[in-house]
This record gives sequence, C-alpha cells and structure tokens, in this order.
Amino acid sequence: MCKHTDFEVLKKRGRQELRKCNTCGEVFHNVIDKEIPIKITAVISYFENSKKIQLDTVENKIFQIGELLEVNKKKYFVNHIDAKRKGELAAAKDIHTLYLIPEDIPTVLKITLKMENGHLSFRAFSDREEIFSKGDNISLEGYDMIIEKILASNGYKPSAQASEIRRIYCSLSTKRGRSLHVDKR
Ligand SMILES: [Zn+2]
Repeated sequence: MCKHTDFEVLKKRGRQELRKCNTCGEVFHNVIDKEIPIKITAVISYFENSKKIQLDTVENKIFQIGELLEVNKKKYFVNHIDAKRKGELAAAKDIHTLYLIPEDIPTVLKITLKMENGHLSFRAFSDREEIFSKGDNISLEGYDMIIEKILASNGYKPSAQASEIRRIYCSLSTKRGRSLHVDKR
C-alpha cells in the first residue's frame, strides 16, 4: 500500500475494500476497522448542576479535550477525560467518564478580589461574548465589587470579551452589580 490518502473504491465486500490510489495508481486491499458499538458514561455540568448520561459510540472512537460533541441535538465541549491513561485524548473503550459542558457556557472567568489584607479568588461562568469593562460593578458569593483591571490574552485592556479574559482584578464596592454564577468544581 502506498502512502497517499486519496483513493477510489473499486470493489467492496463487507469490511473488505479494493482501492485504487488516485495519485500513483496502485491497487490494494484494505480492511475497514470493525466498529463495535459501546456505551460510555458522560457527566454534563451546567453551573452547579450536573447529570450523568450514557453516550452511544464505538470502541475505537477517539475523544479529545476541547472537541465539540453533539448529544441529542445540543452541542457540548469535552472538558475533561477520565481514562485509563491521563491525557488530552482517549479511545472510547478506555474512557471511564467523559466530562462535558454545554457549548453556550464554556467560559470560566478567573476573578481576584483585593481585600483589606490579602486577596480572594473566584471562578465564575460567563457567556463567551459578554463584555467586561474597567469600572463595571459585579456581584458574586455575596461580594459586591468593581472591576479595576482586566488582563486579556494580549495584555491589560480597559474592556474585553469573556473568552479573551485571563483574569479580572476587582476591589470591594458599595454598589451591587450584575451577578455571576460561581463555578464550584
Ligand atoms: Zn499512491
């Protein structure tokens, strides 16, 4: 078999295929991998709630962190894979649990609140497109705060969209602001 990937199927019989390379013309036999259907456990997290589901797939299907999956017509990001071996990807048959988050809430904001003596750190969910600006009031976990600084992927910015924010620095405020859901994982 040559190393090209563009081919024509001349004959097909079950999982056996006779292929002809479109690049060099070589003709060769190929056996397609048998797809053995299995079910794997997936946990979908939505804010503080999570639910366990069974996902229909095939043994050799590779899942990868960051990949977008469609389950019952809704899209989810693969957030974490608990498998035999640690890593960014795993085959379905080696996966214990797949952790998913809905596509519409993939951003977790890291927030540092400056206190009189020290700092508090929070993780909060946000829509990817939501804009945060210096001077905005936000509230979470009973703290009212004002945004002092925003560290975005390309440095400090007066304003940035959530998906580009690396950390938000706040101080306490007397005004209530828009409230954020805290990520308690
Ligand atoms: Zn070829």
